[in-house]
Amino acid sequence: MRAIVDRQRCFGFGRCTEEVPEVFSQDEEGLSVAGDAAGVDPQRLVEAARACPRQAIRVVDGEGRDIVDLAGRPR
Ligand code: SF4
Repeated sequence: MRAIVDRQRCFGFGRCTEEVPEVFSQDEEGLSVAGDAAGVDPQRLVEAARACPRQAIRVVDGEGRDIVDLAGRPR
């Protein structure tokens, strides 16, 4: 399971970094970057996706399939 941030959508509100600071960080432009999510409860990644006001976060399984839609709802 991993998270992918769409930098075209991200406005740098920082909700994801508050939800899961060990995975999400903000770069020098203030945009979110998703790091290694190994060992992180997948539900927390889903919560971060759900919290993003720009629907900029995808949560995908090991084969790249989305496990939630862009609003954080299970697929
Ligand atoms: S919550 Fe969404 S808009 Fe805000 S920094 Fe994270 S990805 Fe970007």
